Amino acid sequence: MKEIKNNSLRIHDVSREVTLYGWVQKKRDLGGVCFIDLRDRSGIVQLVAREGEVYDIARGLKSESVLKVIGIVSERESKNPNLDTGDIEVELSSIDVLNSSRDLPFEITDDTTALEDTRLKYRYLDIRRNAIKNNLITRHKIMMAVRKFLDGKDFVEVETPILCKSTPEGARDYLVPSRVNKGKFYALPQSPQIFKQLLMVGGMEKYFQIAKCFRDEDLRSDRQPEFTQIDLEMSFASEEDVMSLTERLLAKVFEEVKGIKLSLPLRRMKYDDAIRLYGSDKPDLRFDMPICDIGSIFEHTSFGVFQKVLEDGGIINCLVVKNAASEYSRKKLDQLTEFVKTYKASGLAYLKIADEVTGSVAKVVSEEELSQLREQLDLEDNDLVLIVADSNYSVVKTSLGALRCKLAKDLNLIQKDDYQLLWVYEFPSFEWSEEEGRFLACHHPFTAPLDCDVDKLLTDKAHCYSKAYDIVINGYEAGGGSIRIHDEDVQEKMFRALELSEEDIHEKFGFFVEALKYGTPPHGGLALGLDRLTMLLEGTDNIRDVIAFPKTTSASDLMSECPNEVSLEQLQELSIAIDE
Ligand code: ASP
Repeated sequence: MKEIKNNSLRIHDVSREVTLYGWVQKKRDLGGVCFIDLRDRSGIVQLVAREGEVYDIARGLKSESVLKVIGIVSERESKNPNLDTGDIEVELSSIDVLNSSRDLPFEITDDTTALEDTRLKYRYLDIRRNAIKNNLITRHKIMMAVRKFLDGKDFVEVETPILCKSTPEGARDYLVPSRVNKGKFYALPQSPQIFKQLLMVGGMEKYFQIAKCFRDEDLRSDRQPEFTQIDLEMSFASEEDVMSLTERLLAKVFEEVKGIKLSLPLRRMKYDDAIRLYGSDKPDLRFDMPICDIGSIFEHTSFGVFQKVLEDGGIINCLVVKNAASEYSRKKLDQLTEFVKTYKASGLAYLKIADEVTGSVAKVVSEEELSQLREQLDLEDNDLVLIVADSNYSVVKTSLGALRCKLAKDLNLIQKDDYQLLWVYEFPSFEWSEEEGRFLACHHPFTAPLDCDVDKLLTDKAHCYSKAYDIVINGYEAGGGSIRIHDEDVQEKMFRALELSEEDIHEKFGFFVEALKYGTPPHGGLALGLDRLTMLLEGTDNIRDVIAFPKTTSASDLMSECPNEVSLEQLQELSIAIDE
């Protein structure tokens, strides 16, 4: 058995005889002496083969051959400070080639230039690279820290089914045909939501699971059809209880995996405030630059555009980009205008602050308005004020929110290795879907409304708020959850609010509503995205880099070539015919 990690050998091991295993990363034959970099999961150690049989074998080795070697650790003449084992090398007395490798489709190096498709086709080779290997190790460390922490807090890990009932509400289900029950289907779980709530009905009190979830959606680059959630649920808990437990869990993970100390409690911000100040329900707080409302300054404006917006009940908001006016040429500002237009803003007005203010609206802003702007916004010379005015509140907020993030990137305002976490809470219960012409659940239909808003479920959906919370890290939603409805009448009301017919409610959720009748404790929970968390901790924005065997954006596995066609017999057994 392999007992020594290659990367563990140090100067104090000199003179020790060691047996090592690994892959040939690189070989340099200097004639009579051959150096080999032997790699295992832990890292690299240099081997030396001098003359005789070991030299003859060594010089013939191909990259990625698998070796068992025996040798004596000795001090290197020329040390390599870039390698943990750089002070030593191993003088070989024997080389056993356990397996050889044919020519590789790409080199196993950190800075490979291989196309991602090639790397995915040969994923097992890609995993040999530090980048992917280390991500998988980080992922493992996160899972271990989570399990240890939650076990210590009296949570029980329970597995829930993968073959479930299809209850399409939200994303599209992956379906699995039943052979035994012809014409019927299972769905793969989009999340263990209903099951974890039923575990609370079952009296488990505190549950968690590192759960695979499946959503058949059109993939974006940061989505996968199957992904993993750290899923938890607790009975007799308030929003504050779930948030407080979760942030302690995250603090543990950050500390154990990255040695980063989070300062608790994390910042909390109501959803409405997040939108008002940052134009997003997942604000990136690694840089400041809040959205400012300057509407009241223009109450008596003579500028027609602003006048009209205010008359129509709209808002005038701005961003102040500190000390950046000189960096923005007309051309660059035109680009920013085009950018906000993609968020439906009609335009972008700007002011460059100086003794003599210039900019697209400099001529129409009065002295009085200007001095109020200077005071309210603390303006200094060379500040750039970017203004969006529109009759639609969310157009202004969303466009400035997106612009804020773009500016931070353009101006390098984000410090590397900075982590800014916050809770966004009190989400609306519903969001209006233009596409479907009805209100949809903002989180999911099991989320409890605020106690004071229960009556609004059927009468005032637009102003009904919920006991939902999201954890946001560096501008990404890393997880979210809520206190659930535990009262069957409220749950039925919620289903009706979502315009499910009696029949639908009975057919899809009958068993669940029934369960609520038998003494369901108040409960709540949340789920954290394990893939996202690993990405954030590893600083990658490619979700495929943190999953051992990921799918492409067209949901295929390039290595095993799935999905694939199946035999006619298999289809017949399932009574399925393919409609060409
Ligand atoms: N099941 C939810 C989700 O998948 C999370 C939760 O409410 O616990 O987003």
